[in-house]
Amino acid sequence: MPELPEVETIRRSIRAQVEQTTVLGCNVLWSKTVALPSVSEFSQKIVGQSILEVNRRGKFIVLKLTMDSLLIHLRMSGDLLIKENSYTPAKHDRLILSLSRGISLVFNDTRKFGRVWLVPDPEFVTGDLGPEPLDEAFTLPLFHQILRTSQKNIKAFLLDQNMIAGMGNIYTDEALFLAGIRPTNRTSELNDQQIEQLHRSIIFVLKEGIAQNGASFDWVYRGGNFQNNFNVYQRENLECRVCGNKISKIRVSSRGTHFCSICQR
Ligand SMILES: [Zn+2]
Repeated sequence: MPELPEVETIRRSIRAQVEQTTVLGCNVLWSKTVALPSVSEFSQKIVGQSILEVNRRGKFIVLKLTMDSLLIHLRMSGDLLIKENSYTPAKHDRLILSLSRGISLVFNDTRKFGRVWLVPDPEFVTGDLGPEPLDEAFTLPLFHQILRTSQKNIKAFLLDQNMIAGMGNIYTDEALFLAGIRPTNRTSELNDQQIEQLHRSIIFVLKEGIAQNGASFDWVYRGGNFQNNFNVYQRENLECRVCGNKISKIRVSSRGTHFCSICQR
């Protein structure tokens, strides 16, 4: 599943081309892709609106339109592509917006879990999300404050979008490795030093992921390169790059979780 760095990479790849275009046509190829409103209302409302900004909130791409906002969640396998207006729909295309400037914005999604929302206020969809980890507002005191509201293990906490927005399995495992924290530890068990290290590690791995255009291995994204920098994720039974111990894989909160039993206590 694309996480914050992969979604940010896609946002950057489409932004310059679609900003300041107008939606001329809407073709919904898989009706369930449209979460809100109904498909007919969606098509009727979006045509004629201009795309003013292409933003991101957590794992959502948020297109600010003249009247409404179009939110796109890629879920497992969604991708956004820019094509010529003469483009013929491909097999897994779910939604095609014809835009001015002779281009189309194509939402392609093999596994069909991706969703779009057209709403007057984006907060209607993203209102419960936790802070953006790369915003300046995500300070160490704020991180302490959010941690205190949770009784979960730290892995589940980091995956919870209402605690911090944007992290998934990859960046959670990598951040915990860098911070030297065992994924099964309770949030309440972390000491101040560990919390500070984790705060720094979260920001570091996400920035590094973006700098490498995200990770590409179980989906096809933009030639991202972060998979070559993984310390633990999908490296079970390989040697830890720090201590040489074999990387372990366990299930935590029903998610495959990778860690080094020597480096992470
Ligand atoms: Zn190690």
